[in-house]
Amino acid sequence: MKPITIKIVNNEKLLVKWDDGLEQLSTLQKIRRLCPCATCMADKEKESPTYIPLFTFDQSQIKEINVVGSYAISISWKDGHNTGIYEFPFLRKICSE
Ligand SMILES: [Zn+2]
Repeated sequence: MKPITIKIVNNEKLLVKWDDGLEQLSTLQKIRRLCPCATCMADKEKESPTYIPLFTFDQSQIKEINVVGSYAISISWKDGHNTGIYEFPFLRKICSE
């Protein structure tokens, strides 16, 4: 399973089309919030379960998306954060939640 099209819609949402025909639309804010990199994971562990992170405009804007091998995409955000590697099954899971 892999994405065949990834598109940013209105600078606000990410549209992902998968090779099995599924289409998913998810907010960029949510994708940023669920960034799986070590730094963000560590930050999340320090927060209380009721904490809601707020993002600046740049933090929830995507500058660039690159495919990593055949298993993931990496997202560069406009604030310079680019260490998050979203493996395809993870991306699909967060987009469906
Ligand atoms: Zn991160």
